[in-house]
Amino acid sequence: LSDKLDKALHVLKGHGSITEVNVAETLKEVRRALLDADVNFKIAKEFTNKVKEKALGQNVLTTLQPGQLMVKIVKDELTELMGGDAEGINLSGNPSVILMSGLQGSGKTTFSGKLANYLKNKKTKKPLLVACDVYRPAAIDQLHVVGEQIGVEVFSDRGNNDPVAISKAGIAHAKANGHNVVIIDTAGRLAVDEAMMTEISNIHKAIEPQETLFVVDSMTGQDAVNTAKAFNDILNFDGVILTKLDGDTRGGAAISIKSVVNKPIKFIGTGEKMEAIDVFYPSRMADRILGMGDVVSLVERAQEQYDEEEARKLQKKIAKNQFGFDDFLKQIQQIKKMGNMKDLIGMIPGAGKMMKDVDIDDDAFKGIEAIIHSMTPTERSNPGLMNASRKKRIAKGSGTSVQEVNQLLKQFTQMSKMMKMMQGGGGKRMMQMMKN
Ligand code: GDP
Ligand code: MG
Repeated sequence: LSDKLDKALHVLKGHGSITEVNVAETLKEVRRALLDADVNFKIAKEFTNKVKEKALGQNVLTTLQPGQLMVKIVKDELTELMGGDAEGINLSGNPSVILMSGLQGSGKTTFSGKLANYLKNKKTKKPLLVACDVYRPAAIDQLHVVGEQIGVEVFSDRGNNDPVAISKAGIAHAKANGHNVVIIDTAGRLAVDEAMMTEISNIHKAIEPQETLFVVDSMTGQDAVNTAKAFNDILNFDGVILTKLDGDTRGGAAISIKSVVNKPIKFIGTGEKMEAIDVFYPSRMADRILGMGDVVSLVERAQEQYDEEEARKLQKKIAKNQFGFDDFLKQIQQIKKMGNMKDLIGMIPGAGKMMKDVDIDDDAFKGIEAIIHSMTPTERSNPGLMNASRKKRIAKGSGTSVQEVNQLLKQFTQMSKMMKMMQGGGGKRMMQMMKN
């Protein structure tokens, strides 16, 4: 979708003048792009009609920068179509009960963990995860692994195969142990079937959750709409979770689901890691679909993960020429904490396409980390000490070559220099540029 819309808007972007033919062409392309992304025909048509009306109303053809105005109109309409302002989840209950629903493999268990982690980081929330997928023992194990990873308690009852009873017992356990949020992970099937619908509906009726969420894999296209409709008919859910937005398909499902069930999309999943969760912002999603990148959330995520105290210390060290390999290691860990490298790069406008075929993952840091770990503490804080015999020892210890050690040393020197240069306010300016 992104590529097609890009192409469509390319006609307009950057062109000083625009003809009526251009507008019509562009709208046709936009509509085709929406249809290709499995957006319902009627919705796509309504959408382009609305854009056309607005474009004519605002006299696009006579403005100085018709291309930009047109892009703005398309973006605004797309944003509205996906739901206007971001909506949070209802946490007013004590405990607040959140029920997950959706097909098998849509990402319920993963998202349950992500949401628990997200709420736990808000400090005022003490979540409990409840394992109600009773059909596969592995499903219960999976939730326990997730819980351990994020330090959140998991309630399960392996002897029990009644999800209604388990969910009730889980809520009672939460009340008795001071948990103020209960997240209920449930079983899904590969396709909508009656047994699954009856089961989720029974749980729903029995526990009356504050929030029922429908989890859907964003790559499932037109099917996503049918599934969403089937679940909504039975549960009248409160919100949609769009997972796997780190894949190639982006946006089509968001547009269709929102228009068909008219429920807000609340969060998105952008990777397998527990940190790969973002609040859904329709305007950012529109940017993303339009290929403008998602700079705002990139900057936000970076800021969230970045400890300001740490940054201040680091700046002092750089100023005093004391930046060492331990600090370098910390920087790498910081980058890794921010999520999958590919996700992050994908959010930079233009870079997503460029890097599409390049395989980047966290392993890229493994060699570097091994080399630094093989240095003595003295060497780490005094990179100037490095000589041939030390390099040999480090290469041996880290299973790398002297050449690789040399390369890292060179990179490190360059980076130190650059950081020093940026300190004169350049760094701040760069952040400012990214925000604008
Ligand atoms: P469930 O059957 O609905 O509980 O689905 P799971 O949570 O077990 O997820 C199914 C698979 O999708 C797992 O391999 C997850 O790691 C993966 N997954 C879940 N969410 C995301 C996401 O946002 N991005 C990616 N790339 N993978 C995801
Ligand atoms: Mg599961």
